Amino acid sequence: MAVMQRSRTYKAEGVVLSRRDLGDADRIVTLFTREFGPRRLAARGARRPTSKVAPHVELFTRVSLVGAAGASLDVLTQAQTIETYARLRTDLRAFAAAGWAAELLDGLSDDGAAMPQDYAALVAFLRALDRADADPAPLLAAFAIALLDAHGYGPELERCTVCTRRIAPDDHAFTPGTGGVTCLACARQHTSHRVQVDTLKALRFVAREGVAGAERLRTTARVSAELRGVLRAYAATMVEREIASARILERAGAAASARRR
Ligand SMILES: [Zn+2]
Repeated sequence: MAVMQRSRTYKAEGVVLSRRDLGDADRIVTLFTREFGPRRLAARGARRPTSKVAPHVELFTRVSLVGAAGASLDVLTQAQTIETYARLRTDLRAFAAAGWAAELLDGLSDDGAAMPQDYAALVAFLRALDRADADPAPLLAAFAIALLDAHGYGPELERCTVCTRRIAPDDHAFTPGTGGVTCLACARQHTSHRVQVDTLKALRFVAREGVAGAERLRTTARVSAELRGVLRAYAATMVEREIASARILERAGAAASARRR
C-alpha cells in the first residue's frame, strides 16, 4: 500500500509583508502567498552580506519562492524577485499605506488557506500605488473595502445600518460598530464619525470602482484624512469581530470534543 507522504519542499509566490531578526544571522520573513495565505519562513543567513536570498526579501517585494517544511518553522530555501514597487522605497505615505494593507491582510487571513483573490487584490493595489504619484488614501480605501467585502464585511454605504432608511444628503455619519453609515439620529446611540458628504461619495465611488477606479480619484486633504480615519476604525472593528468569532468557534469546538469524551 502506498504511503501518503507530505511533500517536504514546495513552490509558491508571495509578497513580503514583514520581517524580523532571528538569532545572529537569520530572519523570519512573513509573506502573503497566493497558495497558502500568510506564511512565516526562516531565511537562514539572510543578514549576512553573502546571502543569496536577502536581496529578494525586501519589504513588499513580490517573489517566487521555494520553501521546505520544518518541524516548527518552514525554511525559505530560494527566493527570486518577480516585481518590486520602487515608490514604496521613496514615498513615506505610500509605504505607510502598504504597511496598513499588510496589517489588514494579516488580521483577516487564516493561516494555510489559499487566497488567490486576496493575493490578486494585493498585487493590483501595490502596482497602482507604485504607478500613481497621487495621494495613496483612495487606493488604500478601495483595497480595504474590496478585501473586507471578500470576507463578508463590506460596509453598507447607501442605507442607515440601524433604521434602514435610505441616507439623505448631509444626514449621514459613519458608524463602524453597526457596519457602515447611519443617519444622524441613529448615529447618536453609537460611536460614530461625522464625515463630509464628499467623503461618503468617495467611499461609494471606490467601493463601486475598486482600485482601478480609485487611481482616477482626486480628493482633498480633508477627504483623504477622513477616508483613512473611518476605514481604520471600521477595519479594526471588523478584524476584532473576525478574531472574536474564530475564538468562539474554537471554544465551541473544544467544548463539543470535551462533551464527546
Ligand atoms: Zn437611521
